[in-house]
Amino acid sequence: MNAIVDTHTHLENFHRKGFLGNALTAAANAGVSRMVTVGTDLDDWDLYAKLSEERLGTLSYTVGIHPCSVTADWEEAFAKIRSYWGREIKPVALGEIGLDRFHLPKDAVESERVFEQQKAAFRKQLALASELDAPVVIHSRGAFRECVELIDDSSMNWERVVFHCFSEGPGEMQALLDRGAYGSFTGIITFKNAESIRDAARLQGLERLMIETDAPYLAPMPHRGKPNEPAYLRRTADFCASLFKVSDEVLAQRTTETAVAFYGI
Ligand SMILES: [Zn+2]
Ligand SMILES: [Zn+2]
Repeated sequence: MNAIVDTHTHLENFHRKGFLGNALTAAANAGVSRMVTVGTDLDDWDLYAKLSEERLGTLSYTVGIHPCSVTADWEEAFAKIRSYWGREIKPVALGEIGLDRFHLPKDAVESERVFEQQKAAFRKQLALASELDAPVVIHSRGAFRECVELIDDSSMNWERVVFHCFSEGPGEMQALLDRGAYGSFTGIITFKNAESIRDAARLQGLERLMIETDAPYLAPMPHRGKPNEPAYLRRTADFCASLFKVSDEVLAQRTTETAVAFYGI
């Protein structure tokens, strides 16, 4: 089986429930040889740093404040990010960071305030990533235009930017391509109604394709609606091989090369 890389997963949930060993064994059996476990807030960074130290060569990690984790005291968490780059085993990217309109408070005034807070945290993390010369993992939900604007306004090198769980269409993909950034695809690409996401993937092309599970969320077909796990990346990889009309081997090689080069893993 050809080795593939899950470029975006969250292992905290597996660890907490005692399933981590099983999930990693299942992943290895499915040929998912490497994973990037993505930080979302202070609660998971240390765990991911530790897991990554224990499984060098298999597991890499990132740290960052997810937009939905941006609370009133976000600056305290932010102040700790830099220290991870002083460790022997450093994060491979800063993320996931960005903007999320789907989980804002109902009240309009409150919603605006929280969204502004997300923007402030996003700006600061972009500036830090650029200073650390680290790639960034972008989480954008219902806020693609604003995410692009904030990155345009930052000193971030666009070639070190990936929009994870890319769920937009070809127009938005073109905006990323024009800037040299990447889109990474989850199991959503396998959903029946995801034609415009598939068009976006085709536009980006096989040479720049990145794939991920975003486990435990977003299981691909036929596991849709169930908890996702890194092993299911195989489904998405098989689906993408058909989409691009290439062998599983070629799909595995190209996506692995892109992931390895982007994250330096
Ligand atoms: Zn995300
Ligand atoms: Zn995620």
